[in-house]
Amino acid sequence: MPVTVLRMGHRPQRDKRVTTHCALVARAFGAEGIIYSGVKDPKFEETIHKVVGSWGGPFFVRYEKSWRKAIREFKGKKAHLTMYGLPFEEVHIPKGNLLVIVGAEKVPGEVYSLADYNIAIGSQPHSEIAALAVFLYHISGVKEEFDGARLRITPSIRGKKVNIP
Ligand code: SAM
Repeated sequence: MPVTVLRMGHRPQRDKRVTTHCALVARAFGAEGIIYSGVKDPKFEETIHKVVGSWGGPFFVRYEKSWRKAIREFKGKKAHLTMYGLPFEEVHIPKGNLLVIVGAEKVPGEVYSLADYNIAIGSQPHSEIAALAVFLYHISGVKEEFDGARLRITPSIRGKKVNIP
């Protein structure tokens, strides 16, 4: 199903690696792209564009200052990942466009009501990267085919085999 990730509240100094990893996980597990709110971060965007240039796409990165606008204007269902939500195995997500929302620091209460689903990957605090990986794997699995890749891995028992197609 077509998935977009919304990474809320990005702070370039504190969240650079975590937001980058959210985007890498989103891409690897088949999302079409990531929207991020908080503070605009051209370096983060450049890092992801470079990954897409080497390893393929399509995958978009878009900044949206207002997370509220990003959620309200999204055409499709919205799933907010939170440890307070319902267990992910028990929530049925219908086929169709899906916005998967992950937070950084404290997530405003309004997000819980704007979302169609509040979904927990276990009822313990952990990480947006982990929550995103488990949830996307659950709904989509890993993505195997990427367009325009300059590099491709041949899986091997030992060592590193990287092809240049
Ligand atoms: N303390 C913050 C709050 O209460 O909103 C959450 C901070 S947590 C480090 C950052 C993000 O990781 C959360 O917004 C959520 O998206 C995700 N997350 C952490 N644990 C989770 C869990 N058990 N299930 C689903 N998502 C989780």
